[in-house]
Amino acid sequence: LSDRLSRLVKQMRGQARITENNVQDMLREVRMALLEADVALPVVRDFIARVKERALGQEVVGSLSPGQALVGVVHKELAATMGEGVSDLNLAAQPPAVILMAGLQGAGKTTTTAKLARHLIQSRKKKVLTVSADVYRPAAIEQLKTVTKAAGAEWFPSQPSDKPLDIARAALDHARRHYFDVLIVDTAGRLAIDEALMAEIRELHATLKPVETLFVVDAMQGQDAINTAKAFKDALPLTGIVLTKLDGDSRGGAALSVRTVTGAPIKFAGVSEKIDGLEVFDAQRHAGRVLGMGDIVALVEEVQKGVDMAAAQKLADKVKSGDGFDLNDFLSQISQMKKMGGLSGLMDKLPSHLAAKAGQADMDRAEREVRRMEGIINAMTPLERRKPELLKASRKRRIAAGAGVQVQEVNRLLNQFEQMQGMMKKMKGGGLMKMMKRMGG
Ligand code: GDP
Ligand code: MG
Repeated sequence: LSDRLSRLVKQMRGQARITENNVQDMLREVRMALLEADVALPVVRDFIARVKERALGQEVVGSLSPGQALVGVVHKELAATMGEGVSDLNLAAQPPAVILMAGLQGAGKTTTTAKLARHLIQSRKKKVLTVSADVYRPAAIEQLKTVTKAAGAEWFPSQPSDKPLDIARAALDHARRHYFDVLIVDTAGRLAIDEALMAEIRELHATLKPVETLFVVDAMQGQDAINTAKAFKDALPLTGIVLTKLDGDSRGGAALSVRTVTGAPIKFAGVSEKIDGLEVFDAQRHAGRVLGMGDIVALVEEVQKGVDMAAAQKLADKVKSGDGFDLNDFLSQISQMKKMGGLSGLMDKLPSHLAAKAGQADMDRAEREVRRMEGIINAMTPLERRKPELLKASRKRRIAAGAGVQVQEVNRLLNQFEQMQGMMKKMKGGGLMKMMKRMGG
C-alpha cells in the first residue's frame, strides 16, 4: 500500500478543502488497504464512513494538499479507533485481583498468562499465582507449569480429572490465604466457538469475579477475528484484548476489527513466543503498520516544515509558463532537500521495507553527491546558472577548480541537470518527491 499512499500524498494540487470529489479515489485506496490488512468488511465500511464524515469540508491547512490532509485524518482515526494512549492492567480490587484469560485454542492464552505474570512481577512488583482450568488437553496444565516457572511466578496445581469451577475456587482460596496480589486463570479453548465452552467460561467468570477479563486473539486470524470477538463479547464482559503473534507477517488488521466489535481496549501485543515477547499496545504505531506506511504521516509534516512552499510554487509557475528551469532552480531544489533533514533522515521515516531496499550505503553516497553538486553550482556566476549553455570548456575548468572537483564532475552535473529539466517540464513543477527518488537512485 505504501506505494499507493505515497502517490496520494504526492497529489499536490492547489485545492483548498477536502471535497467528495477530490477524496473519492483516495478513500477507495484506503478501503483497499484496510481489506488487504485483513480488516473485516463491515468494520471497513464503518471506518470509511467515519473518516469521510470527519474529513469532508475540512479546510486544508497551509501547504497541505487534500491527499496529505486525508492521510492525516485516516491515521488519526485509525489510532483513535484502536485506542488512545495505553492502558495497563487494572488491579484495583481486593487482593487477589483475578485475571481471566479467554480465547480460542491456540490463540496464545497459556503463553500470555506467563508473559503477563512476568510483566506484573517485573514492572509492578506483584506476587503472582497462575492456575490452569484447561482440563481437556492433558499437556495444557504441564505447559502452564513450565512457562509459569520461567516467568518466576507461582503455579497452582490442577488435575485433568478436576472440574474447572472447583479448580478456580481452590486457586482463589489458596491465593487469598497466601497473600497473592494477582491470580491469573488460564482456560481451555476450542478450535471453534461452541456453546459448552462459552457456558463454562461464563460460570468461571461468575465464580471468580475477575477485575480483568482478557480476550486473547491471534492477529493472524484476520477476517475471522470479527466472529470470534463477537461470540466472546456476547458471552463475557471483556475488559481488554491481547493481540498475539504480531511478529508474524499479518498486517494486524484484526486489531481494528476486534476493537470495533468488542469496544474493549487492546492492552497488550504478543511479539514472540518467548516469555518477554509482550509489549504494551501502542495504537499510534500500530495504525502505521496497518496502513503499511511507516511514518509517512511524519514525513508529510517534515516536508511541509522544511520546504518553502512559496518558493516551490514560484518554481512550478515558472516551469508552467515556459520560463524554463535553470541551475538556480536546481540549486534551490537541492537545498530544499537538505532542509528536509538530508536524504538519510528522510529514509528513517519511510516504511522499513522501502528503506531496506534503498540501503544506508546508497543513501550516504547520494547525500555526498548532493553536497558536491551544491558546491559546483555555488562556484558558478549567477549568469551561468541562468544560462547553462554558456558553460564551455574554459568556464567549466574555472568552476571545477573553484569547487575542488574534476571537470568530468561538472559535466556530469550538467547532464543530470538536463535530465531533471526535462522531467520538470513533464511534471509541470512540484514533483519534489519524484525528484528525490531520482536523485537517491
Ligand atoms: P492457547 O491454546 O490459547 O493456550 O495458546 P498457547 O499459549 O499454547 O500458544 C499457541 C502457540 O502460539 C504456541 O506455540 C505459542 O508459542 C505461540 N504463541 C503465542 N503467542 C505468540 C506470539 O506473540 N508470537 C508468536 N510468534 N507465537 C506465539
Ligand atoms: Mg492453553
